[in-house]
Amino acid sequence: MNASIEAFARAQTVIPGGVNSPVRAFRSVGGTPRFIARASGPYLYDVDDNELVDLVGSWGPMLLGHAHPEVLAAVTAAAADGTSFGAPTVAEVDLAAEIVDRTPVEQVRLVNSGTEATMSALRLARGITGRDKIVKFAGCYHGHVDSLLAAAGSGVATLSHAAAADEAASALASSVGLAAASVPPGPGVPPIRTVSVPAAVPGTRGVTAGTTADTIVLGYNDRAAVRETFAVLGDQIAAVITEAAAGNMGVIPPAVEEGIDFNAFLAEICSRHSALLISDEVMTGFRVSRSGYFGLDGVEADLMTFGKVMGGGFPAAAFGGRAELMQHLAPVGAVYQAGTLSGNPVATSAGLATLRLATAEVYERIDGLSDGLRAEVSAALSAAGVSHVVQNAGNLFSVFFVPEDVTAVPDYATAMTQSAPAYARFFHAMLDAGVYLPPSAFEAWFLSAAHDDGAMNRIVDALPAAAAAAAQSEA
Ligand code: PMP
Repeated sequence: MNASIEAFARAQTVIPGGVNSPVRAFRSVGGTPRFIARASGPYLYDVDDNELVDLVGSWGPMLLGHAHPEVLAAVTAAAADGTSFGAPTVAEVDLAAEIVDRTPVEQVRLVNSGTEATMSALRLARGITGRDKIVKFAGCYHGHVDSLLAAAGSGVATLSHAAAADEAASALASSVGLAAASVPPGPGVPPIRTVSVPAAVPGTRGVTAGTTADTIVLGYNDRAAVRETFAVLGDQIAAVITEAAAGNMGVIPPAVEEGIDFNAFLAEICSRHSALLISDEVMTGFRVSRSGYFGLDGVEADLMTFGKVMGGGFPAAAFGGRAELMQHLAPVGAVYQAGTLSGNPVATSAGLATLRLATAEVYERIDGLSDGLRAEVSAALSAAGVSHVVQNAGNLFSVFFVPEDVTAVPDYATAMTQSAPAYARFFHAMLDAGVYLPPSAFEAWFLSAAHDDGAMNRIVDALPAAAAAAAQSEA
């Protein structure tokens, strides 16, 4: 651990919190983040040369495992031909065509991050409809877009949950000289907007009330709230944005009621009110099936956003939809959107190689591994007497350390009933045994096609002791 400890100390002097994205800092599980030196297949190697089975996969992109030889060859060849031109390339057209082939979208615009994709999709939806308001769901995370940082999942949820919130607040406050009480919305559930309250509350400092004034936050899977909102504000809503299956408050699939899932319900109500449905498949896209969650529930949204897997470990993302909608973008349409590095040739080559290698066998393999691991984790926790719920959206899954009376987690409020200390103990026991889980109870676990028997056995062997550790924390 010495090298990671040293690196983290040095990092904190030149990078806020020592990390370039908050959840990496281990704030909610405690301890020192591992600094990674290299990775191969299902394994990460930290700077102390510990070998760790990776269940984070760079938070989703590494569908094929790390340093896949064919992806590396594509990247190396692309880089040798020049790393950025600021002019169109054929590879961009190939990547766009691959995405169009796999999903219902007819056209895509390539961008550099999931954040850019959702931000641009919202702008496009507002530009097309001439309306201002957007609806999002509590606990869904769509990147650090100002107007969407209200009741957001992922790092915002992690940092606002229980003890982590206090620690983060006082650490941040002391570093910038603010009152601790004024930094992120403390323990518990951030306020969910009801129809009688005009605007969402920013989930972080630095986002103005004006920016979230047109954001309406509703409970995930809460159809009554959506109906009520459309009844009152239907002609002002430009778009509803939802994760195709929620993965940033733990994994919560769109609930099925009366034979249709939440996404289908949203598509129908949006269409009735001439609002656009934006399905955010940044996490699920090209991961839970070759066509993402769309491949599982078949619900066509008006606009879709993609990222992670389609960049093959490089910064590449996209948003897309029907041609008639996408034609509103500059240079043909009046909605401006641009990027110096958009469609970057190296990133594009990594994404294209990854998608071309992501065959039916890859998805079958990951689905099978996920089925097996979910059962193993649940069995180990049950054997140790740890109450929990395991939920999945295809092969994407997470484990909620919730109280005994919670048998399903349909929304953010329920996800927030988790025991952060139980997860932290579980996480560290797994890490000690050489398994790298997401350093937050609110994140999905990511498998790859490179997880072989050796890697899977190491995970399974580590479970009983980790489950026992989780049990202790509840005592
Ligand atoms: N949407 C979803 C569903 C995500 O999971 C994420 C990132 N975890 C984003 C958007 C933002 O993507 P990025 O971090 O690439 O900006």
